[in-house]
Amino acid sequence: RNLKKYFTAGTDFLGRPTAYLKAVDNVSFDIYPGETLGLVGESGCGKSTTGRTLIRLYTPTAGDIIFQGKSLATGFAEKTLRREMQMIFQDPYASLNPRMTVGDIIGEPLNIHRLAAGSERTERIISLLKLVGLNPEHANRFPHEFSGGQRQRVGIARALAVNPSFIICDEPISALDVSIQAQVVNLLEQLQRELGLTYLFIAHDLAMVKHISNRVAVMYLGKIVELAKTEELYTQPLHPYTLALLSAIPIPDPYIESKRERIRLEGDVPNPVNPPSGCRFRTRCSYAMDRCAEEEPILKDLGNGHLVACHLKDH
Ligand code: SF4
Ligand code: MG
Repeated sequence: RNLKKYFTAGTDFLGRPTAYLKAVDNVSFDIYPGETLGLVGESGCGKSTTGRTLIRLYTPTAGDIIFQGKSLATGFAEKTLRREMQMIFQDPYASLNPRMTVGDIIGEPLNIHRLAAGSERTERIISLLKLVGLNPEHANRFPHEFSGGQRQRVGIARALAVNPSFIICDEPISALDVSIQAQVVNLLEQLQRELGLTYLFIAHDLAMVKHISNRVAVMYLGKIVELAKTEELYTQPLHPYTLALLSAIPIPDPYIESKRERIRLEGDVPNPVNPPSGCRFRTRCSYAMDRCAEEEPILKDLGNGHLVACHLKDH
C-alpha cells in the first residue's frame, strides 16, 4: 500500500541527502494467493526494487506491505519472513557459491533455519533435487558443471528448501537460451500447482510473462501505469506505454505482422532522479497533451479489475 523506496542520489558536504532516486514511488497493488502476478517494464523502472522491498530485503521508505493480513513491519519476526518469502534470481551462476557443492547450496537454508540435520537433511536435499528435475547424484557436483537451465533449477530448489508460500521470480529466464526458457517456466508452473505457491514474476518484456501470469502489471519510472488480467492486457491494452511494449513483440504470422502498426518508443527512459512532471511517460508518449505535463494521472480501476493511469482514459 503506497509503497515507496528512495535511494540517496547525492549529498552535500555534510553528507546530507540532496537528491533521491525514486526507484519505487507510491505503488499499490494486490497479489492473490496461488496466482502469478507478472511485473513488466524496461530496466531501471523499479521492478527489482519493488520485489526486494516486498520481501524486505530493502526497508521501504514509506508505505506498508500486508502479508496474510498482517503488516510486514510489525506482524512478523525476521526469521518467519525469510521462510515464507524467497527469491529466485536472474543470473543463477552469480547467485550460487562456486566453491560449494549443489547439495550444500540447497541444504544451506536448512542449516540456517535449523530445519533438518544428518540423514533427514540428505533426504530433503534429494527430494528437492527430484522436485526440480535433477538427480540425486547432482548433489556432489559444483555449479560450474551445470548448464544455465540446470543452475536455475538449483536456484529454485534452494528457494524451495524452507517451504515458502511466496516467491519473487526476478527475471529467472532472461539470461537463459530461448529453448530453455519454456522448460523453466513449465517447471515453475508445475511447482506452483503442486505446492500452492504464489509468484511475483518480474520480466523486462511482455512476451516472457504472458504464459505464466494470471494478471500483469506494467511499470514505468517507479509507477504502475497499467494492471489487468493477462488476456485483457494483451487484447485490450489501454496505456500508450503498454501499447508500445506490445508492439515490440514479434508475431510469428507474417501477414498479421505486415498489417500491424508498430509504435516505436522514442528516446531513452528519463533519469529517475529527475522524472518529468505530471505523467512520467509524457516525454516518450505520442499522445501527450498540455495536461500531461501539469497533472499526474492516477491509477484508476475502469471496471473488471483493469487499472490504468492515463489522462486519455480519464472519464
Ligand atoms: Fe501519454 Fe498523457 Fe496518457 Fe501520459 S497521461 S500516457 S503523456 S496521454
Ligand atoms: Mg532488475
